[in-house]
Amino acid sequence: MTGTHKQQSYGHIAQGASETQVRKMRRNLKAGTNLGRTQSCLSTTLAWIYGSSYDPEVSTRVEQVAYWIDVWKTFGENKKKRIRHMWIRLLPKLGLKQSRMWSHSKGPISATICSVLAAGWKPLSPTRWLTSDKQSIAIIDGAEYNKAHILAQLHQDLSKQIWKEASKHPHSKGIEGGAMLQPAKRAKASLIKEGNYAAARAVDFLVCGVPRDPIIPTGAAPGEEHLCQRCDMHCIATRKHTLWQCAANKDIKTRTSTNLPGPALMQARIGTSGNASSLEALYQNSG
Ligand SMILES: [Zn+2]
Repeated sequence: MTGTHKQQSYGHIAQGASETQVRKMRRNLKAGTNLGRTQSCLSTTLAWIYGSSYDPEVSTRVEQVAYWIDVWKTFGENKKKRIRHMWIRLLPKLGLKQSRMWSHSKGPISATICSVLAAGWKPLSPTRWLTSDKQSIAIIDGAEYNKAHILAQLHQDLSKQIWKEASKHPHSKGIEGGAMLQPAKRAKASLIKEGNYAAARAVDFLVCGVPRDPIIPTGAAPGEEHLCQRCDMHCIATRKHTLWQCAANKDIKTRTSTNLPGPALMQARIGTSGNASSLEALYQNSG
């Protein structure tokens, strides 16, 4: 996994990784997981399987800024002066249309500006950046320990932006502040310990947002593929049906002592807090 990522991101720094490159890197990473063929949420899947540090949306931006902090020190006074001018010229062009900024990013200066903007910071000059809480200024040519501090804060703020985006997806309300994955990891571990592998696998589905209501085109009648295949109730396989109403749920024999944790992410994805037999229902329907 680490190998894939390192190889993928190698060489992006000089020009900055474009939005398209980062999207492709993220999709490749997801494709390598056991959720690769599902409609799971990309951000959650990467955070769940690899940890948020490996999300290219975060790592490529942090690498870009780390490179900038190092390379700035090597520039002479004349070059620094020229870059300051270019920076001031580029900033409004990139900052005013942030949704399209990456398509205008053509070299290390604009790639750095975009990376800093992506974290919600304001890159006032090549060496002074206002952080997203507007409480502090990152000074990149300051003391040596500043670099680690700046990168750590940047990492945190980039992750926040990802969760903010992910919370706009279906069944994701409540995760805009970041998803607490630790309780779900503990639940999965204890299901595996009990030997309830189907339910453990369903935790993957649930956390990463695989189960969704089937999309039936407006005006069209529901087709065979939209109906629940597990029971004879002839109803649409909605999340509500699968988890709570399906007659086939009565046939699930495994009982388990593991309860699902109740943080915002799980509640958003399952509709309410659930138990392990509803997890298995979910597995049978998505698997
Ligand atoms: Zn059913």
